[in-house]
Amino acid sequence: MIELSNVSKTYFSNNKGNGSNAIHALKEANLIVPKGTIHGVIGLSGAGKSTLIRCVNLLERPTSGTVTVDGQEMTNLSNAALNRARHRIGMIFQHFNLLTTRSVFDNVALPLELMGQKRHTVRERVIPLLEMVGLADKADQYPAQLSGGQKQRVAIARALASKPQVLLCDEATSALDPQTTSSILELLRDINHQLGITILLITHEMEVVKSICHRVSLISDGELVEDSEVGDFFTAP
Ligand code: ADP
Ligand code: ADP
Repeated sequence: MIELSNVSKTYFSNNKGNGSNAIHALKEANLIVPKGTIHGVIGLSGAGKSTLIRCVNLLERPTSGTVTVDGQEMTNLSNAALNRARHRIGMIFQHFNLLTTRSVFDNVALPLELMGQKRHTVRERVIPLLEMVGLADKADQYPAQLSGGQKQRVAIARALASKPQVLLCDEATSALDPQTTSSILELLRDINHQLGITILLITHEMEVVKSICHRVSLISDGELVEDSEVGDFFTAP
């Protein structure tokens, strides 16, 4: 489960922190995503979506409020404890963020190597992950040789390498064509269904929410203003 309680994030663009150039990107956001569900947050560009999702794994540190993931409060952890906690939270991005100098196999292996796992343990984990995302035959290729959809599949395999309970998706299909988007969403749905992984995604696309989310919130000017079942959200008068 993911729980945000009164989470605010203020950026100070003049670095003085005196409020003169404060941007209130997130205002007292409250959100509960129950274990095993897919929750979408939809909003326009600049609404605060990236800030919200990056506050979950503390890529951004909230200015105030608390974030809890699987019963663990993230906002008061030491750096070492935060690194360990992040192993339980996978993340994928709009532009995939693969390492171009590493092969597909080595991209997926990276988080396991960073955790200090042995070569054969890494191999035993990476090969099934590549099979799951349909890229077992691409293990030795490099990101530049792959299509956008294939790159996102590699990123998904990498995000799942450390066996997280939670997957964060930051505009994960926004750089993909509609057909590729459908196939990636189908993969995310399977991951949720078969592995029971809780998914929080942000998007500016209605279709993404309609096609895989159980619940949806709307974010506007830093405020989370709705939280409803997807069916109710789209049939509301
Ligand atoms: P979205 O993901 O919905 O496009 P963001 O969370 O990226 O929205 O941005 C919300 C607001 O915060 C915007 O006004 C944006 O310019 C601002 N913002 C985001 N990141 C920073 C930052 N690191 N420093 C200053 N302002 C930022
Ligand atoms: P994306 O849409 O791929 O998330 P963005 O262009 O929204 O990319 O943001 C890229 C990075 O720049 C993020 O780390 C975000 O926090 C930061 N950022 C966004 N808006 C601002 C801003 N106004 N000032 C400084 N940094 C920003």
